[in-house]
Amino acid sequence: MNTAIKPSNRAASLEPLKEQLAAVTRILNREAILSYSGHVAARVPGQDALMIHGINDSRAKVTPEQMGIVDFDGNILEGPKGYKPPLETVIHAEIMRARPDVNATVHIHSDVCATFTIVDDVELALLKGHSVRWRSGIPTHPDPSHIKSREQGEALAKTLGKHNGALIRAHGGVIVAESVPSLLIDAVHFDENAKACLQALSIGKLKPLTEKELDALGGNNNRAQHVYKLWSYYVGKAQESGVVPAEWTGLAQEAVY
Ligand SMILES: [Zn+2]
Repeated sequence: MNTAIKPSNRAASLEPLKEQLAAVTRILNREAILSYSGHVAARVPGQDALMIHGINDSRAKVTPEQMGIVDFDGNILEGPKGYKPPLETVIHAEIMRARPDVNATVHIHSDVCATFTIVDDVELALLKGHSVRWRSGIPTHPDPSHIKSREQGEALAKTLGKHNGALIRAHGGVIVAESVPSLLIDAVHFDENAKACLQALSIGKLKPLTEKELDALGGNNNRAQHVYKLWSYYVGKAQESGVVPAEWTGLAQEAVY
């Protein structure tokens, strides 16, 4: 465990990450992937701890100053006065504890995802090119209740396993990535694919991408470039429309990559 960073220096070094987390939360809210609930979290580099906004903070207006730091056992390490993390923070903690490769997580309550957990004989299929990210599978967690205990979080992490996304029955889902910018792009593509699935079902039988087609899509070969391109697009769009303040310098490409 790296605990060598002094709090004052750590606060300064975590500022770009706080801005990125706040920005992604606002952008996903604007894209209707998050709403009044659901949350994004980021691993604090070098610690068994994560960064997440407070329980009642508006996903539309969350700021870097509202971010707190909570260890994987639920102890609040830092935060603004009166800070209390979301009730389902354990989702992020247990996934990050189980998956060292995961540095960013989003828990969504979107209807478009939950829909696939409340019908028989229809699965969320891989239909669009970028859905190759979930080629290993998108399992459905069977417990529909709010995930508030460590045991529930561990069970969800077990359902997720090695995969990059999971649905939660009658509730929503989780998506995981190696960084906050990558998570934004994955959340957008996950939502796009789920919507494509619903649209396709309205006119006919699903025709998922074949193994050969998924092979041709190339896995993660161009992932960094693609994340870079879409990060520029979504951050620029958010700054232009006032969804994200232009003065959040932690969103600049040099702060992200
Ligand atoms: Zn939830």
